[in-house]
Amino acid sequence: MSSCIAYGMTDLGSSRLRNEDRFSIEREAGLFIVADGMGGHRHGEVASELTVEEIRRHLGVSPPREDMGERLDAAVRSAHDRLVQAIREDPSLSGMGTTVVVMLLDGETALIGHVGDSRAYRLREDRLELLTEDHTWVNEQVAAGVLSTSQARNHPLRNVVTRAVGGGGEVVVDVQRVRTRPGELYLLCSDGLTGMLSDAEIAATLRRETSLDERCRDLVRLANERGGLDNITVVLLAFQESSDPDDA
Ligand code: CA
Repeated sequence: MSSCIAYGMTDLGSSRLRNEDRFSIEREAGLFIVADGMGGHRHGEVASELTVEEIRRHLGVSPPREDMGERLDAAVRSAHDRLVQAIREDPSLSGMGTTVVVMLLDGETALIGHVGDSRAYRLREDRLELLTEDHTWVNEQVAAGVLSTSQARNHPLRNVVTRAVGGGGEVVVDVQRVRTRPGELYLLCSDGLTGMLSDAEIAATLRRETSLDERCRDLVRLANERGGLDNITVVLLAFQESSDPDDA
């Protein structure tokens, strides 16, 4: 049986006036969220805030043990409906939306749901794996063989997402199920981190034998040193052998 500790932080970055990222850590409920809002004026903040709030409302209180994947999917779709409703009531909010990545623990199983380009990574036996696939225009071009990954990384349209909570039409949520093991680290992050740092740099920071909060700070510091062109949000979860007899 494993248990987990978690730490998260968000940072304005070096060139933005406002932080439109939001994150949430609810250890008791086993619920972890990163959302990266978009839209003019203060609307990106409204979108990410409402989305985190709605997902927490759905999943934050002692979730029952059945259909966790469906519940996660329903929670994100409910956040989408809430944004669509908010836009309907106040058309000045039109165009707001948010990416989201959610991790929901159910014993040793973790459900990961995402929309857009916020990501989940896993460090297992010192190897960093990207668990999510960005819903971006450049990623589609890479998949189609039109762009190379390095061209995509530097492309002027690299920030264009093809799916967003609050975007047009229905939202489609990718949900996957993974088995967690003691010794593993999971990272949820916004593109303000991954736009500035390579996966190799992220891996090198995560492998350090420092506390979780130090590793979060190091990731944010490094992204700022590389330019900090966007808001930076990181949530780290570390799984360990449970020492709590109640968990045995
Ligand atoms: Ca962003």
